[in-house]
Amino acid sequence: MKKNEICAKCVSDTTMSDIVFNEKGVCNFCVLQEDLEKKYPLGAEGEKNIQLIIQEIKKRGYKKKYDCIVGVSGGVDSTYCVLLAKKWGLRILAVHLDNGWNSLEAEHNIKTLVEKLGIDLKVVKVNKEEFKKLQIAFLKASVSEIEIPTDVGIYSTLYKVAAQEDIPSIINGHSIRQEGTQPLSWTYMDGKYIDSVYEKFTGEKLKYFNNLKISNMIYYMLVKRIKEYRPLEFLDYDKQEAGKILEKETDWKDYGGHHFESIYTRFVASYIMPTKFDIDKRKVSLSAKVRSGKLKRDEALAVLNGEYYPVEKIKKDQDFVLTRLGLSNKEFDEIMGSPIKTHKDYKTYLTTIKKFKFFIKIACKLKLLPIVFYEKYAK
Ligand SMILES: [Zn+2]
Repeated sequence: MKKNEICAKCVSDTTMSDIVFNEKGVCNFCVLQEDLEKKYPLGAEGEKNIQLIIQEIKKRGYKKKYDCIVGVSGGVDSTYCVLLAKKWGLRILAVHLDNGWNSLEAEHNIKTLVEKLGIDLKVVKVNKEEFKKLQIAFLKASVSEIEIPTDVGIYSTLYKVAAQEDIPSIINGHSIRQEGTQPLSWTYMDGKYIDSVYEKFTGEKLKYFNNLKISNMIYYMLVKRIKEYRPLEFLDYDKQEAGKILEKETDWKDYGGHHFESIYTRFVASYIMPTKFDIDKRKVSLSAKVRSGKLKRDEALAVLNGEYYPVEKIKKDQDFVLTRLGLSNKEFDEIMGSPIKTHKDYKTYLTTIKKFKFFIKIACKLKLLPIVFYEKYAK
């Protein structure tokens, strides 16, 4: 087996097949983050950018019922983002995609958030039967993107609701300094990929799922002129600190782990990913924190050497997940043992994206698309 090489600066390593090291032993993801951090300055400059974003959102929302949409999952980032948006004086519609896997803490966090802050909430429910089939299709596809039905579903639902309710702006709570960027070899996302995996493993076409097609995006961005903003990129906040503020102000409850607000996500991250794909997703956010000086490299390595999630709890999650999906232990063993594939084994938009990379670069420059989109997919 190939020796695992690790970056000299962060904790990313050769389990990410698209990692490249420079002469100093520093990885391409460190270089990318450094580049993005320059585009998202902090301090006085960052504050200026945040104020400009707030002004622009207010201007665009003038005479409309809401200024903006903020997606909520019950997790610390999205909840904190709503709290800040409220403090900035924005009129918010919180939107939650209920995919049927919320933990009790997540439900509690969303409920108390909207009650305490007095904001409106729209819950969009997936078609449970279809969504289950889609999740099983991705398990059977044997790719590491097991969770993209939820990620794409959330993203497209925010745009769909924005278009329906005539809300011109969406606030995305992403923070490159906290979360980093998923390596393409671990997570590739697009609507065509979702369609092709679903069709291949069910023999049917998706009927209810809010998928994200290029045609939808063109409609949302160019016809409806919906714009996405990422103000948290300009903010030097500490996740633990944010959690404490939320506990006090919105009665938020910790659920003990990044993205553990969903039971399915927890099981995928703590068991399927490391066991089948040799993927430890914590490496991405821990590396981001090391690079931005929020965590020491030794501390990050110690976290990685520690237990992801207690074994007996993983077992409990497994029983729950298999029962919910209607999969037998034998079927699940087959899934775990089947040869690994990647998005390249299925139909995706990747060739189209590469073909139109010039236009994507312009769209990123005009801030119609997040900067990272070009860096990650088109470059
Ligand atoms: Zn690195």
